[in-house]
Amino acid sequence: MAKIGFIGLGNMGGGMALNLAKAGHEVVAFDLAEAALARAKEGGCSTATSAVEAAKGVEAVITMLPAGKHVAGVYEELFGVIAPGTLLIDCSTIDVATARSNAEKATALGFEAVDAPVSGGIAAANGGTLTFMVGGTDSAFAKAEPILAKMGKAVIHAGASGAGQSAKICNNLILASQMVGTCEGLALAVRLGLDPQTFFDIASKATGQSWSLNSYCPLPGVGPESPADRGYEGGFAAGLMLKDLKLALGAAHSVDAATPMGAAAESLYQAFANSGGATKDFSAIIGFLDGKLPS
Ligand code: NAD
Repeated sequence: MAKIGFIGLGNMGGGMALNLAKAGHEVVAFDLAEAALARAKEGGCSTATSAVEAAKGVEAVITMLPAGKHVAGVYEELFGVIAPGTLLIDCSTIDVATARSNAEKATALGFEAVDAPVSGGIAAANGGTLTFMVGGTDSAFAKAEPILAKMGKAVIHAGASGAGQSAKICNNLILASQMVGTCEGLALAVRLGLDPQTFFDIASKATGQSWSLNSYCPLPGVGPESPADRGYEGGFAAGLMLKDLKLALGAAHSVDAATPMGAAAESLYQAFANSGGATKDFSAIIGFLDGKLPS
């Protein structure tokens, strides 16, 4: 079992750190928030008073922070103090360019680094059923894989540094476009007088089927249980989807990729967030698109 520094114990990192401790790793946890530290302590981690203290003398440092600037800032603090050969695992969703530059700097200083963003929300983080998409060398992946496996159900090597972040934002670009299209189709079906359940039974078996419709239907009372059945609480926040869409569009711009559907989805999620929807599940955009439907 390894000694692991864990920095960023928020909605996602809090549960992930506890799963590592539960698996028998020695976890030294740090967050700026006292409440997050208290939860980690209660769950079997030891706590540190700074990122540097959490990372001293450990074999691996995991970060689960809001955005690229937070990760880059913490890495700058750590580079002078961590032992050569330390493995840096960043599980945050950040921009591809920062992920690559973090890994380049780390490698030049004699560390190994992977970007390892996750799919799956807070429930998956707490339950240890995340999917990790990992960017980095074969050697760094081989070291990160057994650690990540204690927090997830799948750990997939996506390619070189930055490939994990690339996979994450491309996946979420598909998901956002798919969700908006699904909401439009359902709202139109209702306005045309179709029974929602009957339309679900048809489209979920026809070519309109998708994860957004079949597994995460944005209308309450239709399909398997989803955030729509819980007042659009406790799923994947529209504000986080908006963040990922902005990352995807930025990456698309950097390689001249055409993403008109992604741009439309970003504009709709921005308008939804501006109208107060940022903390609701991202499927709640159905009520923003059609004011007669719940949101
Ligand atoms: P969060 O805001 O709940 O947690 C971030 C934590 O980082 C906070 O507790 C904050 O205090 C801490 N923090 C910030 N700067 C710090 C610093 N310099 N040192 C130590 N701690 C610091 O966010 P989250 O929901 O846990 O998301 C974390 C990452 O995971 C984000 O990049 C997000 O996009 C990604 N993600 C989130 C979800 C989700 O459903 N919440 C799903 C997949 C991926």
